[in-house]
Amino acid sequence: MEWIDVRSDTVTQPTPAMRTAMADAAVGDDVYGDDPTVVALEAAAAERLGKAAALFVPTGTFGNQLALFTHCERGDEVIVAEDSHIVWHEVGGAAIIAGVNLRPVPVLNGDAVRTRIRPAGDIHLPRTGLVCVENARGAGSVMPLATMREIRDVARAAGIPVHLDGARLFNAATALGVEASELAQYADTVMFCLSKGLAAPVGSILAGPSGFIERARKKRKLMGGGLRQAGVLAAPGLIALDEMSARLGDDHVNAKRLAELLERLPGVVVHRDQLDINMVFFELLDIHQNPDDLVAKLLAQGIKANPPEAGLWRFVTHWQVGAAEVERIASAFGQALLR
Ligand SMILES: *Cc1c(COP(=O)(O)O)cnc(C)c1O
Repeated sequence: MEWIDVRSDTVTQPTPAMRTAMADAAVGDDVYGDDPTVVALEAAAAERLGKAAALFVPTGTFGNQLALFTHCERGDEVIVAEDSHIVWHEVGGAAIIAGVNLRPVPVLNGDAVRTRIRPAGDIHLPRTGLVCVENARGAGSVMPLATMREIRDVARAAGIPVHLDGARLFNAATALGVEASELAQYADTVMFCLSKGLAAPVGSILAGPSGFIERARKKRKLMGGGLRQAGVLAAPGLIALDEMSARLGDDHVNAKRLAELLERLPGVVVHRDQLDINMVFFELLDIHQNPDDLVAKLLAQGIKANPPEAGLWRFVTHWQVGAAEVERIASAFGQALLR
């Protein structure tokens, strides 16, 4: 069966062009710096983000944890939104790898950062080592550039670096109608994923100043991320960066269309404030609907969806969920609700 998979944009398969590029990629031992395709991807990514250097890493989690590990000293405090990926979905790695404390805040903005920065000089206090911003946010909304600038200004005034978890950086840029470098300018370092909506099979990028990336390269080795003939993975990454980043607007249009169609169904309430990118969040008013039954009914119609988390459903569009698939999903969900 040809599945329609809306569980995430991590399910995207490499495009035919990516598979060809993988087969043809020039490779070498990247730990020796000998892989021309990895070198090309790192250079292209750095340039695209307006940063001096970049590093290919296996996953987004790896890139974020490597950023914490490279920016911070053990025992430092990291200011971060409490609903962020670093707090929720990285297995508590911050305590294990970088050995830092997370200082989660309910809403991340300039004021939240200003009031959490630890003053120097008191021997009781930990040192504030880093501020982490997420954009696009995992909750499907985009942080405005003005908020990013405010956070950067407050952090910079205190001499504290900012890391941007931009797993979906290009979705955020597309939603804001700006280049990715406009978001990246408000952070010292940036991580973005090649493997989500950009459809590469593997990989993320960590970008920043040359000195930082040099230190991160050594720590990447320590973490077991020194890859050898990684050009076969960097080749689809280049297509992700150059070509797939330009088509994310389609995913956003399709998500909004899906939201519209779902809203026409009885008892479906779409969270419109979480509809900035390629994700549709919604809840069902009818509490008698069994989520697992609904998921099973969708599956029977060839649609893979995750059950809701804390009552909230999430459907994600990507290059394999186009306009026609969106119509099918909405009609299948409508039928599932009836029975
Ligand atoms: C997916 C994601 C990551 C991590 O990516 P993996 O490649 O799955 O480790 C980090 N941050 C955010 C906001 C994400 O959505």
